Amino acid sequence: AHLTDLQQDALNTLIKEFDVSTEKARSIVKQFEEEMDKGLMRYGATVAMIPSYVTGRPTGQEKGTYLALDLGGTNLRVCQVNLEGNSQVSIRQQKYTVSDALKSSDMRHLCDFIADCVDQFLTEHGSQALDQHYHLGFTFSFPVQQTAINRGNLIQWTKGFCCTGAIGKDVVVMLQDAFHRKHINVTIAALVNDTVGTLMAYAYKDPATFMGVIFGTGTNACYYEKMPRIAKWEGGEVAFDEMVVNMEWGAFDNERRVLPITQYDAKLDRESINPHQQIYEKLISGMYLGEIARNVIVNFIDRNLLFNNFSSPELNKQWTFETAYMSSIEEDETSDLAETQHILESIMMIPSTTLTDRKIVKKICQLVGLRAARISACGLAGIMSHTGNIGEPMVIAIDGSVYEFYPHFAENMRACLVELFGDAVNKVKFALARDGSGLGAGIVAMMAHKAE
Ligand code: ADP
Repeated sequence: AHLTDLQQDALNTLIKEFDVSTEKARSIVKQFEEEMDKGLMRYGATVAMIPSYVTGRPTGQEKGTYLALDLGGTNLRVCQVNLEGNSQVSIRQQKYTVSDALKSSDMRHLCDFIADCVDQFLTEHGSQALDQHYHLGFTFSFPVQQTAINRGNLIQWTKGFCCTGAIGKDVVVMLQDAFHRKHINVTIAALVNDTVGTLMAYAYKDPATFMGVIFGTGTNACYYEKMPRIAKWEGGEVAFDEMVVNMEWGAFDNERRVLPITQYDAKLDRESINPHQQIYEKLISGMYLGEIARNVIVNFIDRNLLFNNFSSPELNKQWTFETAYMSSIEEDETSDLAETQHILESIMMIPSTTLTDRKIVKKICQLVGLRAARISACGLAGIMSHTGNIGEPMVIAIDGSVYEFYPHFAENMRACLVELFGDAVNKVKFALARDGSGLGAGIVAMMAHKAE
C-alpha cells in the first residue's frame, strides 16, 4: 500500500498546518500570560479569570454528608458525598440524561428537571428522616460571574447548551426556586465550577494539588492565585492569602492572534452554534476533535485523495465522527488496520476503503490529536509561567475523557512541557481525578457551610 504523490503532498501540507513547534508553543504561552494578566485586572476580558470565592485548602480531616449536583457535561449527576476524614470518602451517585430538547428549552424547565432528579435521588438514596435537610454543592460548568460562594450570574452558554431566560441571571436562585416549588429540603450552599471541584476533590487527598483541569466535552482550568494579584477583586477582606481562580480558558485567543487556526477549524467554528467563541476549546476538546478530523477527511475526499472519491450520508453529516473513534483508530495496531476499517465501513458506512485510505485517516487523527495535546500543554505552561513555580513539586488534578482515554495525550503534553521548561517539570505530577467535580462540589459545600 503506497501513497500517491498527490496523497503524500496533501499529508505533508497537513503536517505543516497542524504543527505546533516549540517556538509556536512559546508564543502561545506568552499570549496566555498576557491574557491572564488582563483577566485579573478587569471584568469582561477574553480569559475571564473568575474569582471562585473558594479560599483555603481542605485538610482531608473534614467530616460530614453533603449533596452535589453536576451539570455541564454529557450527563446530569446527583451525588451524596460522605467525607469520612483521613482523606477517605464514599460517594453514591446517579446519572440522568439531559435531552437536547431541554438544553435549548426555557431555563425554568431545565431547573424543574434537575429538581425532579434530586427528588428522585433522595427518595432512593436519602435519609429516611422526614426533616433531613441537606447542603448542596452545585457544579455548574459554564462561565459564571460569581458574586458569592453561592451566587453567580451566567455569562454565556457553551458546549451545546442554549436555554432561554438564563443569561445574566443567578443560576443558584433559579435552581433554589425550583427546589422550593417542589418542596425539596435542600439548600444550595456553593456554586462550583467543575475545574474547582476537580481541584478540591484531589486536594482532599493531596494538599500539594495546585491546579484543576478538564479535558472532556469542553476544556477549562483553575489554580490557586495570590490575592494581591487579583487586582479586580472588590469582594472585601479575605481570611486567606490565596483564592482559586476559574480561568474559563476555553475562550483563550478568541481574537485569533496566536493559535494555529486551519481552514478545518475555521469551518467548524463557522458552523458551530457559537462562532468566534471558545476558540481554544474548539482545538482541544472532545466535543470538537472528531469534527475537525471529519472536516479534513471530507476535504480529502473532495480532492479525490480518499475512498476512491466516495463518501457517505453518515460521514457527510456534521458531528457524526466522534472523538472516541479517533482514539480507537490511533490505538489500532493491526497490520491491516481492521478496527479503522470497522469504524469507516461499518459505522461511517463508507462503501469500501483500502489500506492506504486507512493509513491516511489514521495519520489525520494523529495530527489532530497531537496538536490538541500540545496546545493543551501551552495552557498549563501559561499558568506555570504566570505563577513562577516551575521546578517546584506540584500536582495537577485532571479530569475528562480526552485526558483519560485519548492515546498518548498525557505523554504528548508532558513532552511539550519539557521542550518549554526542561527537566524541571519532572516534579509536576498529572493526577487523574476521575469524576472529581461531584466530590469536589461536596467539599466546597462543606467548606462554605462550616464558614457560615
Ligand atoms: P464531560 O466532560 O462531558 O463531563 P467526559 O469527560 O466523559 O465528560 O467527556 C466527554 C467527551 O469526551 C465527549 O466529547 C466525547 O467525544 C469524548 N470522549 C469519549 N470517549 C472518548 C475516548 N475514548 N477518547 C477520546 N474522547 C472521548
